[in-house]
Amino acid sequence: MTRLNQFDLTFLGAAQTVTGSMYLLEVDDYKIIVDCGFFQGRRQESATLNRNIPKTARDADAMILTHAHIDHSGNIPGLVKSGFQGQIHCTATTADLCGHMLRDSARIQEHDAAWLNRKNNDDPDWKPIEPLYTEDDAIAALEKFVPHAYDTPFELNPRIKVHLVDAGHVLGSASVIIDVLVNGHSRRVVFSGDIGRRNLPILKDPVPPSHPDFVIMETTYGNREHGPVASMHEQLAKAIEETRQRGGKVIIPSFALERTQEILFALNELCSSGRIKPIPVYLDSPLAINLTEVFRKHRECFDEEAATFSNAHGDPFGFDMLRVVESAKESMALNELSEPAIIISASGMCEGGRIVHHLRNNIENHKNAVVIVGYQAQHTLGRRIVERRRQVPIFGVKRDLNARVYVLNAFSAHADKNELLWWARECGSQVRKFFLVHGDPEQSVAFAEQLDALGMKSEIPRRGTKVSLLDS
Ligand SMILES: [Zn+2]
Repeated sequence: MTRLNQFDLTFLGAAQTVTGSMYLLEVDDYKIIVDCGFFQGRRQESATLNRNIPKTARDADAMILTHAHIDHSGNIPGLVKSGFQGQIHCTATTADLCGHMLRDSARIQEHDAAWLNRKNNDDPDWKPIEPLYTEDDAIAALEKFVPHAYDTPFELNPRIKVHLVDAGHVLGSASVIIDVLVNGHSRRVVFSGDIGRRNLPILKDPVPPSHPDFVIMETTYGNREHGPVASMHEQLAKAIEETRQRGGKVIIPSFALERTQEILFALNELCSSGRIKPIPVYLDSPLAINLTEVFRKHRECFDEEAATFSNAHGDPFGFDMLRVVESAKESMALNELSEPAIIISASGMCEGGRIVHHLRNNIENHKNAVVIVGYQAQHTLGRRIVERRRQVPIFGVKRDLNARVYVLNAFSAHADKNELLWWARECGSQVRKFFLVHGDPEQSVAFAEQLDALGMKSEIPRRGTKVSLLDS
């Protein structure tokens, strides 16, 4: 094999921030993209970044996707539309989940573009905007997906082998392990993807990779400790019972993927054990309904608890009090509800989708509750609710935040500081460097200090940083 001259890693996104995951690994003239997610947060800035995929990414030979979350997968149709020709490798579950998520994302892009064009129709200076991508673009991108099982190596070229291990973050999530032959040695580069918590319901635990040389590692909660996983159900039950006593409704903004299924599973257990009294639960998210079907199909990914529950009680995500809300008309009818109920709806950070309508209709009533069960990025409506601002803007109108806000951190799908440290330690002392990504700076810096105290070397790259792994 000829001598390797180039072995470079470039950070194209999720550097000193938590969205827009995208990394480029160059092995001579072979280019691999890992993840191609949406940037989210400040609208204008994110839109510009999402519309301008770097040429090096568009020219890449192959892509590997860690998991189906939109901040990791959302711009894949944009990538393919702008000229990417290669295959997209991921787990079979991730491929099935993306089948729904990317088409749903395309419909949102088309809807938003049409709405903006209509709104500005009378403005003579308005230049009509095109959706970032359409449903047809998403379908074309999905044809490039190649599903793989966990722990099963595949070759990208004679120098490069890849395998995926369970990251325990959402169903089908993976850490990507890339072995590259470098001038007589094998070098292992690991992209952690998002790392889950140990003992999360439904999911198997994260599997730390063995013997990596370089690790690109997420640090979403590099400086935070979550409550114990065991307290999750108890906290949820308390929020529900307190709200019921006030005669109010519980609004749960939830990511359609994973969090919704965890909440359904939790409510199922709480109802069947009698811990909460029967209360109507409305699942108002067509996407979440479809993704729940994918969960039912991929029971091989369940942990023992979910498998046992499902053997004993049947469907872990279905129960008597659950009502599935498909049409927009049914969704609007929920405004008329006067008795206590639980409404689960997306999007998870309250930035779009039906949840925004439910928040508008319920947030000013002190009897109601908003139960936050997921990460809320800066500058999102969800973050403002978590901060318990007196007023929050919804559809351009300031609304008083009178509803009770419960923040259930234990529901996080992300490992906390201690769990990340466990994962990093398990990688072993031969790691040459950790590149800390996917975290706000204060989280990554604090985590770097923790690694440093343990004698582990790390760096916090910026977007655009390129490093050579050849001499490192
Ligand atoms: Zn994720």
